[in-house]
Amino acid sequence: MTTETPVVGDTPGDVRFRSLGVARLALPLPFVEAGNTVSVYAIENPDGSLTLFDTGLATEPSRQALERGLAELGRKVEDVRRIIVSHGHIDHYGAARFIRDRSGAQVLVHPADADKVSGHGARETLLEYAGYLARLGVPGEAIARIRDTHRSHRHLAEPLDEIEPLVPGQGFRFRHFTATILPMPGHTPGLVCLHVPEHRFVLTADHLLAHISPNPLLELGPGGEAGKFQALVTYLESARRLGELDLEWILPGHGAPFTGHRAVLESLRVFYEKRQAKMLRALASRPLTPYELVALVFRQGANLDLFLMLSEIVGNLEALEARGAVARIVGEVPYRYGVVTP
Ligand SMILES: [Zn+2]
Ligand SMILES: [Zn+2]
Repeated sequence: MTTETPVVGDTPGDVRFRSLGVARLALPLPFVEAGNTVSVYAIENPDGSLTLFDTGLATEPSRQALERGLAELGRKVEDVRRIIVSHGHIDHYGAARFIRDRSGAQVLVHPADADKVSGHGARETLLEYAGYLARLGVPGEAIARIRDTHRSHRHLAEPLDEIEPLVPGQGFRFRHFTATILPMPGHTPGLVCLHVPEHRFVLTADHLLAHISPNPLLELGPGGEAGKFQALVTYLESARRLGELDLEWILPGHGAPFTGHRAVLESLRVFYEKRQAKMLRALASRPLTPYELVALVFRQGANLDLFLMLSEIVGNLEALEARGAVARIVGEVPYRYGVVTP
């Protein structure tokens, strides 16, 4: 007898959704930031097969947990007919290829995140990022560390080419309800949520989590820095749209289902407002590079990933720039930002 913890979620929210043919599988992650598990959802199709919303990593522990979770439901990987990838982060699509190879499932991804899942252009992208991070004032050895971390994460996911585009507003008929794809760019440019209006719930992936800020990540555009994605500015607009929906439950990409989405969105708004106020105080004394701001804004010794901290600083700088509170000093490299005095 093994005493392994069950993979299928069993909180009151989980139990409620089981009766609608939606089961949450908590699959293991080696990242503390994300709370150690990713929530993957198995949804019953009208013909008795399954749709998976996200997949977990391609690691052995995660694949085993997926198989164990499906077995707890009386299912197997071969029952999966369709995989909807919420966004192109490894913990959400990593095992898509493994599942597709076993079951022949169709894999759907929003076009804006397709390159992350297929791995196309990964080398060029790394070089572009190194140049951009240097312009943010990040020292060479820290850039090398970011690159190493990125490389060390690669084996956690298997890229795959056979993907089909998700279309905004696309509808899917499941056994107990119909759901609609809602693009919610911000955390990544191609993040999608799955909305079920008739039962007032949304599968949000990393767009909204109960206890973790969604960290809209630094993302260069197809043309490098020139086409850079304004992650936080875009996120806040998507968050506003989520707040307008009449919802009871959120089924998040990490953790258990929760209610009260507007209260969580409001605490996020306050969180970013405080962060921006702190940055403005730091910039009041003299113009600073984004890298210098990291040290001033985050607690010393905070055991956080530098790329995540930089993402947050740059995102907030862009939000402050958008409302005319700060500006980049023209012609200076590395970039420095100063407070705009009216
Ligand atoms: Zn993510
Ligand atoms: Zn995630």
